[in-house]
Amino acid sequence: MRLLRTVAEARQWRSAAGGSAGLVPTMGYLHEGHLALVRRARAENARVIVSIFVNPTQFGPNEDFARYPRDEARDLALLRAEGVDAVFAPTPAEMYPEGFATRVEVTGGITSVLEGAHRPGHFDGVATVVAKLLSIAGAERAYFGRKDAQQLVVVRRMAADLNLPVEIVACATVREADGLAMSSRNVRLTAEGRRAAPVLYAALGEAQRRFADGERSAETLRAVVRTRVAAEPAVALEYISIADAETLAELDEAQAGALVSLAARAGDTRLIDNVTLGGEY
Ligand code: AMP
Repeated sequence: MRLLRTVAEARQWRSAAGGSAGLVPTMGYLHEGHLALVRRARAENARVIVSIFVNPTQFGPNEDFARYPRDEARDLALLRAEGVDAVFAPTPAEMYPEGFATRVEVTGGITSVLEGAHRPGHFDGVATVVAKLLSIAGAERAYFGRKDAQQLVVVRRMAADLNLPVEIVACATVREADGLAMSSRNVRLTAEGRRAAPVLYAALGEAQRRFADGERSAETLRAVVRTRVAAEPAVALEYISIADAETLAELDEAQAGALVSLAARAGDTRLIDNVTLGGEY
């Protein structure tokens, strides 16, 4: 497995590596959710390149950039065991050298709502770094998790609008046995937060069940989630949305395929999760 620190090394690797390449962009501190993306990329491409980069530009000034968990040695061991061909792990200065002055901004409804409303500038940072990573890796396919559903919508829009020659592949959310969506941030949960956090997926499941039983009022379904989460004092709901899965516009009438998404805090750890109406629960 090659460890690539610079853009020049990554480009060299790609031009020497034959066949199709799959890119898995990550911020490291890898878990089974990331590894599911890696395995899918491994199955569908001759070469797999994983990027590990905690991108400073997608964190707000009061967010957890400095405290974001990092363990590169462990990440590299996990990726070696998965048969990954190359890891691109640049420094911030390599990605944003002196004089860097470009921002990729996906405009309109899909970035102004949900995470975009609560994390100003977040998706500019995401779109910019993903555009750079796609350009650097020269991969035919790039793999993203449904856990970050809005990010997936934004990345698809950006790749289509910029005519990037890459297929964006979406992968299912991987969960702990008790339903909690795997996340690098889960290690920051206190024991009490970790105990309480599965309420989020349980509440989303309740909305799915009520939809399956015939409930079509989106507001009633949002209230179902609010009530369920409110019963768990260790978790504070930030928002609950039932929206069109493509436009992310809030719905009055719930429909199959709609995205039910939420953000919440357990102590000072922010968690997000989502499910689809009409999906399994
Ligand atoms: P991150 O390192 O959190 O930026 O995530 C890197 C990629 O892994 C993103 O495409 C995420 O959506 C995806 N990912 C993170 N957690 C999960 C999970 N629990 N299941 C599936 N994909 C995930």
